[in-house]
Amino acid sequence: MQGINNKILRVDLTKKEFKIEEPGEKFYRKYIGGRGFALYYMLKEMEPGIEPFSPDNMLVFASSIIGGVTAPAIPRLTVCGKSPLTGGFGEAEAGGFWAPELKKAGYDAVIVTGKAEKPVYLWLKDGEVVFKVADHLWGKETGDAQSLIREELAEDKARIVQIGPGGENLVRYAGITNELAHFNGRTGLGAVMGSKNLKAIAVWGTEKLEVGDIDKIREVARWAATEGLKDPMAEGLHELGTVALVNSFNEQGILPTRNWHKGQMEGADKISGETMRDTIGKEARGCYSCPIRCKRVVEVNDESMKVDPKYGGPEYETVGSFGSTLEIDDLKLIAKANELCNRYTLDTISTGMTIAFAMDCFENGLLTREDCDGLELTFGNKEVVLPLIQKIALREGIGDLLAEGSLRAARKIGKGAEKYLRQVKGQEIPMHDPRVKTGVGLSYAVADYGADHMKAPHDPFYTDEDAVGLRTTKALGIYDPVPAASLGKEKVRLYKYLDMYWSMLDMLGACDFGYVPRGPVPLDKLIDLVQAVTGEDISLMELMTAAERTINMARMFNIREGFSSKDDVLPEVFYEDFIAGPSAGSGGIDREEFNEALKLRYKLMGWDEQTGEPKEEKLLDLGIDWVL
Ligand code: SF4
Repeated sequence: MQGINNKILRVDLTKKEFKIEEPGEKFYRKYIGGRGFALYYMLKEMEPGIEPFSPDNMLVFASSIIGGVTAPAIPRLTVCGKSPLTGGFGEAEAGGFWAPELKKAGYDAVIVTGKAEKPVYLWLKDGEVVFKVADHLWGKETGDAQSLIREELAEDKARIVQIGPGGENLVRYAGITNELAHFNGRTGLGAVMGSKNLKAIAVWGTEKLEVGDIDKIREVARWAATEGLKDPMAEGLHELGTVALVNSFNEQGILPTRNWHKGQMEGADKISGETMRDTIGKEARGCYSCPIRCKRVVEVNDESMKVDPKYGGPEYETVGSFGSTLEIDDLKLIAKANELCNRYTLDTISTGMTIAFAMDCFENGLLTREDCDGLELTFGNKEVVLPLIQKIALREGIGDLLAEGSLRAARKIGKGAEKYLRQVKGQEIPMHDPRVKTGVGLSYAVADYGADHMKAPHDPFYTDEDAVGLRTTKALGIYDPVPAASLGKEKVRLYKYLDMYWSMLDMLGACDFGYVPRGPVPLDKLIDLVQAVTGEDISLMELMTAAERTINMARMFNIREGFSSKDDVLPEVFYEDFIAGPSAGSGGIDREEFNEALKLRYKLMGWDEQTGEPKEEKLLDLGIDWVL
């Protein structure tokens, strides 16, 4: 197989040793990349029940069989480990530049175990592995640390993944950043990095990857940079980024507002994509070799507030979690909150949602001013957001409680605080309402690493014959429209395949915004690309099966950690009707219908209908009965 290095770097921080494994072609073909690589090693080598912050936890940084080539929207870095937020399988994806550089530096993945006696960072350059002292970097924010590392290595072009103080202080939803603006945000893996005293991994490579058919790869890249960019979806992403959703969601009454009590916010236009473009927007940026360039960069230079453009700009999820869920209509403040989270490496969704939970507790008398270091945690209070982010990152005062995540905080507060939780498996939910996107709701509930909006394309892509999803993903066996709010059997079947499809994109390191239905590159070109890079006859069926394999492996990982069908639930608020907006007085999910849909989902997956455990024959079918 071409396009791979056949090298997995194993680093033991306790012993300060490394070795290189060459797992061979069968491994790459079966596990593809990303979560596939990670789950293979995690299930084979990690004992059940280990503490996420123990040296025995494994932290896997993975590219894929096609990562590192100059092809459209294949920049993704997957990081996996046992999550300190959920206690189960943890995974986070990021764009940027680090994963392609890792491939050029000679590795397909890096697996880190153990714990360094003192802070270290790793320097990987063209096959060399150097352990570097990081005492002087510990406590530094990401921008300063990146500059110091590049200076020290005398390598301006070194790509760096790293944690800031949030990860060092073991905030359970700390993330990992590369190039300061690309974020492996979810499931708290930045805290696992912190628990290992690992500040950063710098990579630089000049090795040329051998590929099967360079002309074919160039043909796909050329198509994406010309025809692909004419696609309305790609144009929209380039023009406004994901923040474009704010105004439309607000009009539909589904913009999460006031910790999801409402679906519309007065003044939402002040935090919309259009307002961002026309006020603080500076430019659009992209990831490695991606012509779409959907990332926002913002700048604020007010006397009272500055936002540094090197930290990028807020996505829709961030505008929702620091804006409407807190009833904050100040875009500059939201941009600053985003910047602080990138400096400290905090996941913006979990940070904003944990603050929203705390505000709800405060408004309902479960937290007092005294509990909150004198801060008035009322919705809409602009004075408290930035201080709270800092307190969380540094675990100061009330920040120490909130750094544990909303579920653990609720258990500590008691007095019925659970009522204000909006989470699944301990992970705070993203900014998409399952009452109008039931498929997303099924994904929230079943997802192996807790609620996430990037597990599958969203329901509106499949609602009528002309919908973009139906036009572009027939090759997945999807032929018929399904209403967005339906929970019927067609929806369950649709989401089985969509979950597998986006897991497949994750495993390939492909960005969901680059490929159909959310992006312009069609499925046949994706398969052309995989075959051109690897020089192998890898098919769509083979890739979808590999994705299904990982869904089952992650499920098995969670089962041995004590998870069961009882954990596949939605937050209570979604069983209630909307209280305002166009759908006021209706919309609440029917609990029985949802539970029936879940049972059917288990059956279609080959899982036990009651327990949700994969059946032995399913694991055998997927060639992973060794997992048992
Ligand atoms: S579409 Fe956006 S997020 Fe995806 S690879 Fe391109 S620039 Fe990065």
